[in-house]
Amino acid sequence: MSPAEEAATDHRTTRILLATAHPDDADIMAGGTVARWVDEGHDVHAVVFTRGDKGHDDPVMTSEGVAALREKEQRAAAAILGVSRLTFLDYTDGELAWSGPQLAETATRLVRQVRPDIVVTHDPYGGAPAYWEPQLHPDHRAVGLAVIEACYFRAPGPLFYPAHGAAGLAPHRVREILLIMSDHVDHVIDISATFERKVRAVREHVSQFGKHPHLERFLRRLAERHGRGHDVAAAEGFKRLAR
Ligand SMILES: [Zn+2]
Repeated sequence: MSPAEEAATDHRTTRILLATAHPDDADIMAGGTVARWVDEGHDVHAVVFTRGDKGHDDPVMTSEGVAALREKEQRAAAAILGVSRLTFLDYTDGELAWSGPQLAETATRLVRQVRPDIVVTHDPYGGAPAYWEPQLHPDHRAVGLAVIEACYFRAPGPLFYPAHGAAGLAPHRVREILLIMSDHVDHVIDISATFERKVRAVREHVSQFGKHPHLERFLRRLAERHGRGHDVAAAEGFKRLAR
């Protein structure tokens, strides 16, 4: 292999799919990593399964109003991180766990369309021992499970959804899955250079964090916790599943 070919291989663009339940999920847990991937020239597709239409405490707000607001906030956050491909699917917030077979097909189609090397999604097996609130959200578990099953079993198997093949979507095998909101973090990514951008992106979710008195401090502590033991000042942590 010539040095030029070697360099080309080393710097091959990695295709990454972010598949999360609500606006803000990926930004809080992986925003610094996403900004870093964008800076490194990788191809990041963000897919948000709902518009977070239940995510507001003000009873005068309608679900339609909340959805529109949160979509706008997510688009602003994505622009800060440099994510140009952002898709919202039309699932209803809080009801993903009731969408079983349809959700499985959607997740499989997504993997076959985007054809990612790396997928970032929720850890559906979270819960014990921490019972951290985000781990208990039924949408997080539903998306995580559907996406992992799509990556491992359905998307690579040509006999799953043969109509996809007729529509030109070939089977696809994902190389690596990074799970957010996990109690079993075994992979950290240094976000020292992109932490400030992550904070700005998360701040765009005003409907969720506008009243948070110490948002930056909260995110800093999270980043320090993940970096501890790895000689990194700020990091994001994942459970990594590699093929
Ligand atoms: Zn969420």
